[in-house]
Amino acid sequence: MGNVLIKGATLASGKQADVLIEGSRISKVAGSISANGCEKIDAGGKILLPGFVNTHAHSGTVLMRSLGDDMQLHEWLERKIWPTEKKMGEKEMHAGAMLSIAQMLHGGTTCFHDMYFHMDAVARACAKSRMRALLGYGMIDLGDEKKRKSELKIAEEFFKSWNGKEEGRIRVSFAPHAPYTCSNELLRESAALAKKYNAHLHIHLSETRKEVFGVLQKEKKRPIEHAHSLGLLGEKTVASHCAWITKQEAALLGRTGTSVAHCPVSNMKLASGGTCPVPELVGAGANVCIGTDGAASNDSLSMLESMKFAALLQKHSRWDATVADAHQVLSFGTKNGARALGVDAGEIKEGKLADLVLLDKKSVSLVPLHNVESAIVYAAHDGNVRDVLIDGNIVMQEGKLLTMDEEKVVEEAQKAAARIVQ
Ligand SMILES: [Zn+2]
Repeated sequence: MGNVLIKGATLASGKQADVLIEGSRISKVAGSISANGCEKIDAGGKILLPGFVNTHAHSGTVLMRSLGDDMQLHEWLERKIWPTEKKMGEKEMHAGAMLSIAQMLHGGTTCFHDMYFHMDAVARACAKSRMRALLGYGMIDLGDEKKRKSELKIAEEFFKSWNGKEEGRIRVSFAPHAPYTCSNELLRESAALAKKYNAHLHIHLSETRKEVFGVLQKEKKRPIEHAHSLGLLGEKTVASHCAWITKQEAALLGRTGTSVAHCPVSNMKLASGGTCPVPELVGAGANVCIGTDGAASNDSLSMLESMKFAALLQKHSRWDATVADAHQVLSFGTKNGARALGVDAGEIKEGKLADLVLLDKKSVSLVPLHNVESAIVYAAHDGNVRDVLIDGNIVMQEGKLLTMDEEKVVEEAQKAAARIVQ
């Protein structure tokens, strides 16, 4: 890994700066830096941002993109998703993860938080592409004790095999799927495992009204309260969705320092109806970040798109154009995401990991650039992303992926999708 000097970039603040990267970290940010013996990136026509952090995804589901859209959630799951994903083996998962990673890199995502199965295949895809990720085996027991034990065993083995691998770019979280698919014992034991290994937890919470009613009926508590009573909330927990929560639950998420992965596109596509109460969560001190969810329910993996939707959904649902402003939403997609996943990145500051993206500021969609943050959140699209660095490695240069053979990735994904969808 050589040193890299980025010259003349426009930062989110609108200021110009040079950025020196030594090894995997940013060593200097200044108006002008001279350095010899390093690779230079001329960023005179580019915007430099911290890489986007996608805090909730299921990368393998990309193979089911556009399969059964415009269906009600449960019908979609029962008729399309569950029967199809049963046919996915290691090979298909690897092909799906490679395609997802390729798309995420093109969109400027430098780290993602994944929950699914055959996670060895996803980890291998991350290693090959030099992507940063926090990966968790998605555990589901549906109250079956034997299944619970085997799920916990798979999750723990996956943790031992991959946590901290690839110079620390790959880390492992524990990922009980949701309160409606996991027994209380599985949820409790997942929390205990995360504590034992000082690892993160990843769980779907309060995604739908149906889930809230189900948990209320069974536990006499709402999902966030239920999760708290089982020891699931805390600074190393990412609760995905939180679309149907009360102010009290928002306060509980804030008090426990839990991160909330807001997934506006997936929620709207699946007609969840509820809206994650972002201002209340921020007010309560919760760490709000952004997730795309899987590509089967998005159907994109674009963080730029999800950030825009996050801002618009809050404004629209509250009749208030001042909420979820561009500066705040860009932080959700970068700094807050990095904090949620325990990655020392998300800011262009000396000492931070060099997970960075460069966008073409002369693109027709970004000119004129009156306000960089507004342009990024409301006007930019994935096609504007030109270069991506992860851990100081250039993984995409002028739109070309350097760590993957894109043509082959697409071909393998098409073949894998054809094998599982007949
Ligand atoms: Zn999800």
